[in-house]
Amino acid sequence: MPDTERTWNIAAQLDDLRAQELWRELRPLDEAHGLTVRSGDREWINFSSNDYLGLAHSQEMQAALEDGIAKYGGGSGASRLVCGTHRSHVTLEEALAHFKGTEAALTFSSGFAVALGTIPALVGAGDTIILDKLCHASLVDAARLSGATIRVFPHNHLDKLERLLQTAQGRVLVVTESIFSMDGDAALLKEIVELKSRHGAWLLVDEAHAVGVLGPQGRGLSAALGVDQQVDLHLGTLSKAFGLSGGYLAASRQVIDLLINRARSFIYSTAPPMHLAHALTTMIDLISSRRGDLLRSKLHTNVGQAVQLLKDIGMSPPAVQAAILPVIIGEASQALAASARLRDSGFLIPCIRYPTVARGSARLRITLSAEHSVSQITALGSALQAAL
Ligand SMILES: *Cc1c(COP(=O)(O)O)cnc(C)c1O
Repeated sequence: MPDTERTWNIAAQLDDLRAQELWRELRPLDEAHGLTVRSGDREWINFSSNDYLGLAHSQEMQAALEDGIAKYGGGSGASRLVCGTHRSHVTLEEALAHFKGTEAALTFSSGFAVALGTIPALVGAGDTIILDKLCHASLVDAARLSGATIRVFPHNHLDKLERLLQTAQGRVLVVTESIFSMDGDAALLKEIVELKSRHGAWLLVDEAHAVGVLGPQGRGLSAALGVDQQVDLHLGTLSKAFGLSGGYLAASRQVIDLLINRARSFIYSTAPPMHLAHALTTMIDLISSRRGDLLRSKLHTNVGQAVQLLKDIGMSPPAVQAAILPVIIGEASQALAASARLRDSGFLIPCIRYPTVARGSARLRITLSAEHSVSQITALGSALQAAL
């Protein structure tokens, strides 16, 4: 009998993760309503969610979902090319295209699926993808899947980007996030747009952490900087500020038509339930409305307060502030211990380690929401000081 335990080595792999302080586990929560999360009789204030505007638990969300369920029921039944495209998906995509200022948009079941479908549909062997070193795993995996040559520039390093552009072969796609998910800082989008235009490359910007949060009507960092019309491919998630789940790619009509024909994570995946599309259309209206502006203004006030607290305890927050404030600690064991101490004092703040960030740069990742109160943020400041 072959010794499969030896071949697969699962126990040894798990032991190895534990030994390196890289072990992760899922912690069940009994209740997560707004910013308070509960497990048994314990309760924490959540500073780890990407629901930046607090829409996930809003009355508007509840009402839109209930309305959608009453109208459309449960699942969609099949992929959109097979079963027919429901009007609710078309309406959502028209609203997204209008919101992002593009001709068209296509929705996917997650932001991760957008990257996996889009990048390999547009570039392949003989082409070149140039990524910022800190790009999200979905962008890296999509680039690998495409078969194109992959080049990486150090985070926001424009000289290196330019040198890579000079020698790139085939179709050239530059890929960056606008607000970086684990560092909370911003890409130098204006300069990147200028470089990619000069070298005839295309640019994909992942605005997962900027839509809803930055720019006029919450349209993202590229709109805030006035370069959105030069971005060729706008990628975003519907799972963060939009408060629900899913992802989108907004671009020209031709690009979207090509994706409908080629993006495998779109073609071979069941369409998201119609009530989600219905509720998301309402969320776009809300995010781009006066009420959206008020929520953003509250969020930025909260971020400002947290930034000041971090400065007071000797930390240096990112210069362009969206809603992510990392506290870089270094060693995974120390960051884990700090996260555990914060948990003991009633705050949910995750420790982010390798392979999500580079070894030796383990950190606490604080995310703010429009829903946090002044006193919750003040309390966080004291707890942080005690935990570090
Ligand atoms: C969260 C995230 C995604 C993936 O979006 P999901 O909808 O959660 O799958 C993609 N890019 C970045 C930068 C993200 O932070």
